[in-house]
Amino acid sequence: MGIEVRVLGGGGEVGRTGVFLRDSSRSKGLLLDYGVGFDDYGRPLFPEHVRPNDLAGIVISHAHLDHVGAAPSFYVSTKPRVVTTKPTIEVGSILIKDMLKISSYYIDYTEEELNEMNNSSIVLDYGGEVDLDDYNIALSNAGHIIGSALTYVGTPSGERVLFTGDLNTVNTYTISAAEPWPGEVDVIVIESTYGGVEHPDRHRVEKSLVEAVEATVDGGGVVLIPAFSVGRSQEVLTMIASEMPYVNIYLDGMSREISRVYLRNSKYLRNPDLFRKALEVAHIVRDWSDRRRVFREPGVIISSAGMLKGGPALYYLKKLAGELKNAVILVSYQSNDSPGHEILETGGIADLGISVKAKLMWFDLSSHAGRRGLLNIALHYKGSLKAVILVHGDNESRDKLAKSINEALPDVKVYAPMNGEHVSL
Ligand SMILES: [Zn+2]
Ligand SMILES: [Zn+2]
Repeated sequence: MGIEVRVLGGGGEVGRTGVFLRDSSRSKGLLLDYGVGFDDYGRPLFPEHVRPNDLAGIVISHAHLDHVGAAPSFYVSTKPRVVTTKPTIEVGSILIKDMLKISSYYIDYTEEELNEMNNSSIVLDYGGEVDLDDYNIALSNAGHIIGSALTYVGTPSGERVLFTGDLNTVNTYTISAAEPWPGEVDVIVIESTYGGVEHPDRHRVEKSLVEAVEATVDGGGVVLIPAFSVGRSQEVLTMIASEMPYVNIYLDGMSREISRVYLRNSKYLRNPDLFRKALEVAHIVRDWSDRRRVFREPGVIISSAGMLKGGPALYYLKKLAGELKNAVILVSYQSNDSPGHEILETGGIADLGISVKAKLMWFDLSSHAGRRGLLNIALHYKGSLKAVILVHGDNESRDKLAKSINEALPDVKVYAPMNGEHVSL
């Protein structure tokens, strides 16, 4: 074989993904994602550098900042072509502008470079293909968030590589499960966020969440669901609106703007009508006078931030936490340093003097595949598959997934490179 896969970011970590794929016969290669991570102080961290002149192009798998947030930095001096989907451009732009507002001091590009990047994009639908310097690129649905894509690359010397970005293999209310590209693949570069765990049965989780909401609202309480503004908010909204259309639902935070992108790009949703109806049923919180009113009657408030690091969700929490009849339902990953994690562990947020008397719950509505789902992607290419490279996961998750793949596919080589390392195949 003749390819080199260099991990620039996301090696042994979740965040700032960057993978450089080069055909050994060529000087130029493809950059697959170029995202930011954040340090303990919230300062952005970039992946390792790659020379703009070495780029045949960039492919962005989806709009999360850990996959797209560093990409505009190439547009200060050059204009590489970027291949992605329309929702990724639209959602990514909102998230990047928001990050620039907060962290521009640490970032070497401005909105101008973001616009330059968007103007350099080649927009593909799922199933679409394009050639850049003899690299053939095709996208299919990754099942993770709106517009998220699995990327297939046929290299100039004929190697077939799949880069998964983040993926999910179960159907959710808003997004259909990942659809592996038909055909053969030699090498997979796969995320491994939950490579060591199985998620509980999705359908059962959804049912318990709906029951918890119903019980609280029937008891005259308000349910606060802090949720990420991209994906999780729209998912929870669609779930509750379709299962309980009679309940008052309020949507607050950046998810309001993101939901408009969802609506504009509804063909990327599993059931566009379901989402459209959910958004019609929901009350959009417009301003502070709305915000001060919405928790006065039984209902559900869906608001950012998902880990309670800020946003209107914190305001609502302060108002609702003290009463037994209310409920706070967390539905997102809670990092160890987050207030959301603290509240689940201790029942309060010490710094803010919040002690929660309301019911406190967490439901696993992950948008990432668990161990079995990830393994199934590898099994899908049994026969042609020769190597799997694990990224976007901590070392424990990568080790466990590596073990599962080794057991199921003993002839396939599994690699877990760190940042700055490369695999030559
Ligand atoms: Zn993601
Ligand atoms: Zn990610």
